[in-house]
Amino acid sequence: MKRVIAKLALATAVLGLTTIASPSVQAQAPATPQLYVFTSGSLNGFPRSALAVGASNDIVNDVPVSFYILKHPKGIVMFDCGNNDKTITDPDGWWGPLAKGFGLKMTKDDAIPAQLAKIGLKTEDVKYLVVGHMHLDHGGNIGQFPKAQLVVQEDELKAAWWPDVGFSVYYIPGDFENTKKMDVLRLTGDIDFFGDGSVRIFRAPGHTPGSQFMVVRLAKTGTVILTSDTVYLKESLEKNLIPPVPGTWNPGDMYRTYAKLRHIRDTEKAQVFFGHDPDVFKATKKAPEFYD
Ligand SMILES: [Zn+2]
Repeated sequence: MKRVIAKLALATAVLGLTTIASPSVQAQAPATPQLYVFTSGSLNGFPRSALAVGASNDIVNDVPVSFYILKHPKGIVMFDCGNNDKTITDPDGWWGPLAKGFGLKMTKDDAIPAQLAKIGLKTEDVKYLVVGHMHLDHGGNIGQFPKAQLVVQEDELKAAWWPDVGFSVYYIPGDFENTKKMDVLRLTGDIDFFGDGSVRIFRAPGHTPGSQFMVVRLAKTGTVILTSDTVYLKESLEKNLIPPVPGTWNPGDMYRTYAKLRHIRDTEKAQVFFGHDPDVFKATKKAPEFYD
Protein backbone atom coordinates (compact mmCIF):
# COMPACT_ATOMS: atom_id res chain seq x y z
CA MET A 1 0.00 0.00 0.00
CA LYS A 2 2.81 2.36 0.97
CA ARG A 3 4.55 1.62 -2.30
CA VAL A 4 1.37 2.39 -4.28
CA ILE A 5 0.98 5.72 -2.51
CA ALA A 6 4.63 6.55 -3.14
CA LYS A 7 4.20 5.71 -6.83
CA LEU A 8 1.07 7.87 -7.07
CA ALA A 9 2.86 10.76 -5.37
CA LEU A 10 5.76 10.41 -7.79
CA ALA A 11 3.40 10.31 -10.78
CA THR A 12 1.56 13.39 -9.53
CA ALA A 13 4.84 15.21 -9.04
CA VAL A 14 6.02 14.27 -12.54
CA LEU A 15 2.70 15.28 -14.11
CA GLY A 16 2.65 18.52 -12.16
CA LEU A 17 6.18 19.28 -13.24
CA THR A 18 5.35 18.53 -16.88
CA THR A 19 2.37 20.89 -16.83
CA ILE A 20 4.36 23.72 -15.31
CA ALA A 21 7.46 23.19 -17.46
CA SER A 22 5.71 23.11 -20.83
CA PRO A 23 4.97 26.63 -22.11
CA SER A 24 3.21 25.28 -25.23
CA VAL A 25 0.55 23.57 -23.09
CA GLN A 26 -0.15 26.88 -21.36
CA ALA A 27 -0.10 28.77 -24.66
CA GLN A 28 -2.63 26.38 -26.16
CA ALA A 29 -5.19 26.57 -23.39
CA PRO A 30 -5.68 30.12 -22.10
CA ALA A 31 -8.46 30.69 -19.54
CA THR A 32 -10.32 32.84 -22.08
CA PRO A 33 -10.04 32.82 -25.91
CA GLN A 34 -7.22 34.67 -27.69
CA LEU A 35 -7.58 35.66 -31.34
CA TYR A 36 -4.55 35.96 -33.66
CA VAL A 37 -4.77 37.62 -37.08
CA PHE A 38 -2.56 36.55 -40.03
CA THR A 39 -2.28 37.09 -43.75
CA SER A 40 -1.18 34.51 -46.28
CA GLY A 41 1.06 36.74 -48.41
CA SER A 42 -0.70 39.49 -50.35
CA LEU A 43 -2.53 40.32 -53.58
CA ASN A 44 -1.42 43.34 -55.61
CA GLY A 45 -1.84 45.55 -58.64
CA PHE A 46 -5.49 45.23 -59.74
CA PRO A 47 -8.39 47.71 -59.72
CA ARG A 48 -10.49 48.02 -56.57
CA SER A 49 -13.57 47.48 -58.77
CA ALA A 50 -12.39 43.87 -59.25
CA LEU A 51 -13.39 43.39 -55.60
CA ALA A 52 -16.58 45.44 -55.64
CA VAL A 53 -18.67 46.48 -58.64
CA GLY A 54 -19.23 50.22 -58.31
CA ALA A 55 -16.01 50.90 -56.37
CA SER A 56 -13.25 53.05 -57.90
CA ASN A 57 -10.82 51.81 -60.55
CA ASP A 58 -7.84 52.77 -58.35
CA ILE A 59 -5.16 50.10 -58.23
CA VAL A 60 -4.99 48.28 -54.89
CA ASN A 61 -1.88 46.77 -53.30
CA ASP A 62 -1.10 44.80 -50.15
CA VAL A 63 -4.55 43.22 -50.17
CA PRO A 64 -4.48 40.74 -47.27
CA VAL A 65 -5.51 37.10 -47.51
CA SER A 66 -6.77 36.87 -43.96
CA PHE A 67 -6.79 33.80 -41.76
CA TYR A 68 -7.05 33.44 -38.00
CA ILE A 69 -6.11 31.27 -35.04
CA LEU A 70 -8.27 31.20 -31.94
CA LYS A 71 -6.58 29.76 -28.87
CA HIS A 72 -9.69 28.57 -27.05
CA PRO A 73 -9.89 26.71 -23.72
CA LYS A 74 -11.56 23.84 -25.63
CA GLY A 75 -8.90 23.59 -28.35
CA ILE A 76 -7.19 25.49 -31.15
CA VAL A 77 -9.61 26.72 -33.82
CA MET A 78 -8.30 27.93 -37.18
CA PHE A 79 -10.52 29.98 -39.46
CA ASP A 80 -9.49 29.80 -43.14
CA CYS A 81 -5.99 28.63 -44.08
CA GLY A 82 -4.67 30.87 -46.86
CA ASN A 83 -2.96 30.23 -50.18
CA ASN A 84 -1.40 26.82 -50.73
CA ASP A 85 2.26 26.91 -49.60
CA LYS A 86 3.18 25.52 -53.03
CA THR A 87 2.57 29.04 -54.39
CA ILE A 88 5.73 30.20 -52.55
CA THR A 89 7.93 28.40 -55.07
CA ASP A 90 5.51 27.75 -57.94
CA PRO A 91 2.79 30.44 -58.06
CA ASP A 92 2.04 30.07 -61.79
CA GLY A 93 2.06 26.27 -61.63
CA TRP A 94 -0.43 26.13 -58.76
CA TRP A 95 -2.64 29.16 -59.45
CA GLY A 96 -2.23 29.35 -63.24
CA PRO A 97 -3.02 32.80 -64.72
CA LEU A 98 -4.64 33.92 -61.42
CA ALA A 99 -1.17 34.29 -59.83
CA LYS A 100 -0.23 37.15 -62.17
CA GLY A 101 -3.82 38.43 -62.43
CA PHE A 102 -4.00 38.96 -58.67
CA GLY A 103 -0.31 39.91 -58.28
CA LEU A 104 0.17 37.10 -55.76
CA LYS A 105 3.17 37.64 -53.47
CA MET A 106 4.24 34.83 -51.14
CA THR A 107 7.56 34.40 -49.30
CA LYS A 108 8.91 31.50 -47.26
CA ASP A 109 7.80 33.33 -44.10
CA ASP A 110 4.21 32.97 -45.34
CA ALA A 111 4.37 29.17 -45.13
CA ILE A 112 1.78 27.85 -42.66
CA PRO A 113 4.31 26.14 -40.34
CA ALA A 114 6.36 29.38 -40.16
CA GLN A 115 3.25 31.45 -39.44
CA LEU A 116 1.98 29.13 -36.68
CA ALA A 117 5.48 29.03 -35.14
CA LYS A 118 5.13 32.79 -34.47
CA ILE A 119 2.62 31.91 -31.75
CA GLY A 120 4.23 28.67 -30.56
CA LEU A 121 2.01 26.27 -32.49
CA LYS A 122 2.49 23.43 -34.94
CA THR A 123 -0.02 22.38 -37.59
CA GLU A 124 -0.95 19.28 -35.56
CA ASP A 125 -2.05 21.52 -32.65
CA VAL A 126 -5.04 22.73 -34.69
CA LYS A 127 -8.09 20.77 -33.51
CA TYR A 128 -10.78 22.43 -35.65
CA LEU A 129 -10.25 23.90 -39.11
CA VAL A 130 -13.25 26.05 -40.03
CA VAL A 131 -13.26 27.32 -43.60
CA GLY A 132 -15.35 30.29 -44.70
CA HIS A 133 -15.44 28.58 -48.09
CA MET A 134 -13.07 26.48 -50.17
CA HIS A 135 -11.67 28.94 -52.70
CA LEU A 136 -7.92 28.83 -53.39
CA ASP A 137 -7.07 31.67 -50.98
CA HIS A 138 -9.07 30.28 -48.03
CA GLY A 139 -8.88 26.49 -48.31
CA GLY A 140 -5.42 26.37 -49.90
CA ASN A 141 -3.72 24.52 -47.05
CA ILE A 142 -6.46 22.10 -45.90
CA GLY A 143 -3.98 19.33 -46.82
CA GLN A 144 -1.66 20.39 -43.99
CA PHE A 145 -4.29 19.56 -41.35
CA PRO A 146 -5.20 15.88 -41.89
CA LYS A 147 -5.88 15.29 -38.16
CA ALA A 148 -8.06 18.37 -37.62
CA GLN A 149 -11.84 18.28 -37.88
CA LEU A 150 -12.85 20.25 -40.96
CA VAL A 151 -15.93 22.40 -40.31
CA VAL A 152 -17.66 23.36 -43.56
CA GLN A 153 -21.11 23.76 -45.04
CA GLU A 154 -22.26 20.62 -46.86
CA ASP A 155 -23.00 22.45 -50.12
CA GLU A 156 -19.58 24.14 -50.11
CA LEU A 157 -17.99 20.69 -50.27
CA LYS A 158 -20.19 19.92 -53.25
CA ALA A 159 -19.49 23.31 -54.89
CA ALA A 160 -15.74 22.73 -54.57
CA TRP A 161 -15.77 19.13 -55.80
CA TRP A 162 -18.37 19.68 -58.55
CA PRO A 163 -18.61 23.42 -59.21
CA ASP A 164 -21.45 25.05 -61.13
CA VAL A 165 -20.57 25.94 -64.72
CA GLY A 166 -18.47 29.11 -64.72
CA PHE A 167 -17.66 28.91 -61.01
CA SER A 168 -14.80 26.41 -61.03
CA VAL A 169 -12.07 29.01 -61.55
CA TYR A 170 -11.36 29.73 -57.86
CA TYR A 171 -11.45 26.08 -56.75
CA ILE A 172 -8.20 24.07 -57.05
CA PRO A 173 -8.92 20.36 -56.49
CA GLY A 174 -5.35 19.74 -55.26
CA ASP A 175 -6.02 22.09 -52.32
CA PHE A 176 -8.73 19.91 -50.84
CA GLU A 177 -8.09 16.43 -52.23
CA ASN A 178 -7.74 14.96 -48.72
CA THR A 179 -11.16 16.15 -47.50
CA LYS A 180 -12.66 12.73 -48.32
CA LYS A 181 -10.31 11.17 -45.74
CA MET A 182 -10.78 13.82 -43.06
CA ASP A 183 -13.16 14.02 -40.13
CA VAL A 184 -15.63 16.52 -41.61
CA LEU A 185 -18.41 18.25 -39.70
CA ARG A 186 -20.86 18.95 -42.54
CA LEU A 187 -23.07 21.88 -41.58
CA THR A 188 -26.38 22.84 -43.15
CA GLY A 189 -26.91 26.01 -41.17
CA ASP A 190 -25.68 27.96 -38.16
CA ILE A 191 -24.03 26.47 -35.08
CA ASP A 192 -23.02 27.62 -31.59
CA PHE A 193 -19.81 25.62 -31.85
CA PHE A 194 -18.91 25.05 -28.18
CA GLY A 195 -22.44 25.59 -26.86
CA ASP A 196 -21.41 28.63 -24.81
CA GLY A 197 -21.72 31.47 -27.34
CA SER A 198 -17.95 31.96 -27.59
CA VAL A 199 -17.69 30.71 -31.19
CA ARG A 200 -20.65 30.85 -33.55
CA ILE A 201 -20.65 29.93 -37.21
CA PHE A 202 -23.29 31.40 -39.53
CA ARG A 203 -24.31 30.00 -42.86
CA ALA A 204 -23.97 32.89 -45.34
CA PRO A 205 -24.31 31.94 -49.01
CA GLY A 206 -23.77 34.42 -51.83
CA HIS A 207 -20.05 34.54 -52.54
CA THR A 208 -20.24 30.76 -52.92
CA PRO A 209 -23.09 28.28 -52.30
CA GLY A 210 -21.77 27.26 -48.87
CA SER A 211 -20.01 30.34 -47.52
CA GLN A 212 -20.05 30.94 -43.77
CA PHE A 213 -18.70 33.53 -41.35
CA MET A 214 -17.54 33.10 -37.76
CA VAL A 215 -18.42 35.24 -34.75
CA VAL A 216 -16.09 35.12 -31.75
CA ARG A 217 -16.85 36.54 -28.31
CA LEU A 218 -13.76 37.75 -26.46
CA ALA A 219 -13.57 38.74 -22.78
CA LYS A 220 -12.04 42.21 -23.24
CA THR A 221 -12.50 42.98 -26.95
CA GLY A 222 -16.14 41.95 -27.18
CA THR A 223 -17.65 40.43 -30.30
CA VAL A 224 -15.60 40.08 -33.48
CA ILE A 225 -16.96 38.95 -36.88
CA LEU A 226 -14.52 37.13 -39.16
CA THR A 227 -16.10 37.52 -42.59
CA SER A 228 -13.93 35.33 -44.83
CA ASP A 229 -15.30 36.32 -48.26
CA THR A 230 -18.95 36.73 -47.27
CA VAL A 231 -17.91 40.39 -47.64
CA TYR A 232 -14.55 41.58 -49.03
CA LEU A 233 -14.31 45.25 -48.03
CA LYS A 234 -15.73 47.66 -45.44
CA GLU A 235 -16.92 49.73 -48.41
CA SER A 236 -18.81 46.70 -49.79
CA LEU A 237 -20.86 46.41 -46.61
CA GLU A 238 -21.47 50.16 -46.31
CA LYS A 239 -22.52 50.70 -49.93
CA ASN A 240 -23.98 47.26 -50.65
CA LEU A 241 -21.39 46.54 -53.37
CA ILE A 242 -20.88 42.95 -54.46
CA PRO A 243 -17.95 41.37 -56.32
CA PRO A 244 -18.11 40.67 -60.06
CA VAL A 245 -18.79 37.07 -61.19
CA PRO A 246 -17.31 34.58 -60.32
CA GLY A 247 -16.77 36.35 -56.96
CA THR A 248 -20.55 36.48 -56.59
CA TRP A 249 -22.29 33.16 -57.05
CA ASN A 250 -25.76 34.50 -56.17
CA PRO A 251 -26.40 38.26 -55.83
CA GLY A 252 -29.66 37.91 -53.87
CA ASP A 253 -28.04 35.59 -51.33
CA MET A 254 -25.04 37.93 -51.11
CA TYR A 255 -27.26 40.93 -50.23
CA ARG A 256 -29.17 38.84 -47.65
CA THR A 257 -25.85 37.76 -46.13
CA TYR A 258 -24.73 41.41 -45.91
CA ALA A 259 -27.98 42.22 -44.07
CA LYS A 260 -27.47 39.34 -41.61
CA LEU A 261 -23.90 40.41 -40.97
CA ARG A 262 -24.91 44.05 -40.40
CA HIS A 263 -27.60 42.91 -37.98
CA ILE A 264 -25.10 40.99 -35.85
CA ARG A 265 -22.59 43.87 -36.10
CA ASP A 266 -25.18 46.36 -34.84
CA THR A 267 -26.96 44.31 -32.18
CA GLU A 268 -23.70 43.07 -30.62
CA LYS A 269 -21.59 46.19 -31.33
CA ALA A 270 -19.17 43.87 -33.07
CA GLN A 271 -15.90 44.69 -34.80
CA VAL A 272 -15.73 43.31 -38.34
CA PHE A 273 -12.52 41.77 -39.68
CA PHE A 274 -12.97 41.72 -43.46
CA GLY A 275 -11.51 39.06 -45.74
CA HIS A 276 -9.56 41.31 -48.10
CA ASP A 277 -9.69 44.94 -46.88
CA PRO A 278 -6.19 46.48 -47.00
CA ASP A 279 -7.04 49.52 -44.85
CA VAL A 280 -8.89 47.64 -42.12
CA PHE A 281 -6.11 45.05 -42.08
CA LYS A 282 -3.44 47.74 -41.66
CA ALA A 283 -5.18 48.95 -38.50
CA THR A 284 -5.53 45.40 -37.09
CA LYS A 285 -3.14 43.85 -34.56
CA LYS A 286 -1.22 41.05 -36.25
CA ALA A 287 0.17 37.83 -34.71
CA PRO A 288 2.03 37.39 -32.43
CA GLU A 289 -0.03 40.22 -30.91
CA PHE A 290 -3.57 39.11 -30.15
CA TYR A 291 -7.08 40.13 -29.14
CA ASP A 292 -8.49 38.72 -25.92
ZN1 LIG B 1 -10.78 35.37 -50.82
